[in-house]
Amino acid sequence: MLAMILDTPGKPLRKADVPTPKPGPGQLLIRVHACAVCRTDLHIVDGELTHPKLPLIPGHEIVGTIAELGKEVTRFKIGDRIGVPWLGWTCGECAFCKNGQENLCDKARFTGYTLDGGYAEYTVADQRFCFSIADSYSDAEAAPLLCAGMIGYRSLVKAGNGKRLGIYGFGAAAHIVAQVAKYQQREIYAFTRPGDEEAKNFALNLGAVWAGGSNELPPVKLDAAIIFAPAGELVPQALKLVGKGGTVVCGGIHMSDIPSFPYSILWEERSICSVANLTRRDGEEFMTLAPKVPVRTEVEIFPLEEANEALHRLKSGKIQGAAVLAINR
Ligand SMILES: [Zn+2]
Ligand SMILES: [Zn+2]
Repeated sequence: MLAMILDTPGKPLRKADVPTPKPGPGQLLIRVHACAVCRTDLHIVDGELTHPKLPLIPGHEIVGTIAELGKEVTRFKIGDRIGVPWLGWTCGECAFCKNGQENLCDKARFTGYTLDGGYAEYTVADQRFCFSIADSYSDAEAAPLLCAGMIGYRSLVKAGNGKRLGIYGFGAAAHIVAQVAKYQQREIYAFTRPGDEEAKNFALNLGAVWAGGSNELPPVKLDAAIIFAPAGELVPQALKLVGKGGTVVCGGIHMSDIPSFPYSILWEERSICSVANLTRRDGEEFMTLAPKVPVRTEVEIFPLEEANEALHRLKSGKIQGAAVLAINR
């Protein structure tokens, strides 16, 4: 099969012909149709996340059809269309797994990081961590739901029930979260890179009630803010804008250092938290909710061979919505 492979962080992916994987017990062989490109992939390829398996096939927002079943597979049948997310395996035995926090499992394995992922014509995945995909989505439209959607949704839940929600970084996750938040009758205040008029318009078109640069002040106090941009300096900026008891949620897996700030902007029971990975429950809840909203994803499609170009455009902030690799088309 054709695959795009990371040999060394910091170097572009290499196009290669590699053996098609075999599904082990409980695993599915999936013919990949689409794999979205996540900012996390960029952090892996650039070496900011330091423990990938190598060589690695990246990609953890996979949509495809089942080509072969491993032994003991009961949840799916050949030909089913399914999605594979970032959380690829958990131990089921550690304190976190037993406490409903499998996202924090001590031994968790992650698709496209410690397991091979979807920048390839085929991949294997553990059936227990795969999701059915609603028929109303095309393959490419569904792919960003698998991480931008699911982890975006977890971030939204962590933000609490407040009505006025700030979102920093209006990329793939934010464009999905904004639609869910609007469906929940909340108000979105979108913060973009200063001067990025296109991103502002994108946010307003998705229902934000206000959009401005991260250096601008919204017209109201916020109840909560979610930061998807990997820029630590946004944390104290957001804290200053949330009211008493408000929460600032850091939704990314990597962020630059957070500068020191006066205690007064944290006091009055404001809090800062991060979101790590997802649980299967987050995924099921979100995949049930998405077609009801209905969440529509805006995607820019690249052939598999152009994965490096897709990553480059994502890094330069040139993707509106989500970049998706179309595979086996
Ligand atoms: Zn991701
Ligand atoms: Zn565990």
